[in-house]
Amino acid sequence: MKQTDKTTCTDNGIITVAIDGPASSGKSTVAKRVSALLNIIHVDTGAMYRAMGLKAVRCGIDPADEAAVVPMLDTTDVSIGFVDGAQHIFLDGEDVNALIRTEEVSQAASKISALPPVRDKLLDLQRDLAKKQSLIMDGRDICTVVLPDAKYKFYISASAEVRAERRFLEYSDKGTLGDLTIEDILQEIKQRDYRDMNREVAPLRPAEDAVFIDTSYMTVDEVVSAVLAELGMASLLHI
Ligand code: C5P
Repeated sequence: MKQTDKTTCTDNGIITVAIDGPASSGKSTVAKRVSALLNIIHVDTGAMYRAMGLKAVRCGIDPADEAAVVPMLDTTDVSIGFVDGAQHIFLDGEDVNALIRTEEVSQAASKISALPPVRDKLLDLQRDLAKKQSLIMDGRDICTVVLPDAKYKFYISASAEVRAERRFLEYSDKGTLGDLTIEDILQEIKQRDYRDMNREVAPLRPAEDAVFIDTSYMTVDEVVSAVLAELGMASLLHI
């Protein structure tokens, strides 16, 4: 069997699956499910940018102001750990997992992630993680910049309207909707898409060799099946 055969799924025993896609496309949910089925870790790189955004908010720094952010980076440590298989993000040693999913932090992450020095700092951390172990890593530039040699690459998307609806339901379920309307959420998603797709460094775009999955009218189970089929592991769903 050739090294490139999809059914081998590994390079040197390491499975590397890279997933990109816009906010609320369902990529992290799918990555989590597939990682559990494959018994490998799931690295959510968005959480790393969120931790950076949180730090800027805490320091009262404009996350879009590179001159103010660069000195902050020297005193900022972002790392990840795993608790019962779930990623936890640490900012300067503090577990900030529960603090990074607010709208304020989403906007700060989206702005700070456009700054090249921020991306450089997180790139090393992301590549080091992938050298050591099998993983599924998701984000905006994983297939194009972070792990361009990953054997399995996916671009998971959905219409902005469907993504806003999903986010609205998620906030309603968690009781964190506050005054937000679905229209507010749609505008926020469109702003983040625009920034992610139009920044100069590592813009969000599908890698040429990525498998494109539009999840607008698919269930999570259907997307998980599609990903596993590409990995040649569809049988895992029937164990
Ligand atoms: O995926 P999530 O919405 O949690 O990501 C938060 C923000 O981090 C995104 O809006 C995006 O701007 C940024 N990001 C990025 N590159 C990645 C992952 C996330 O620029 N690989």
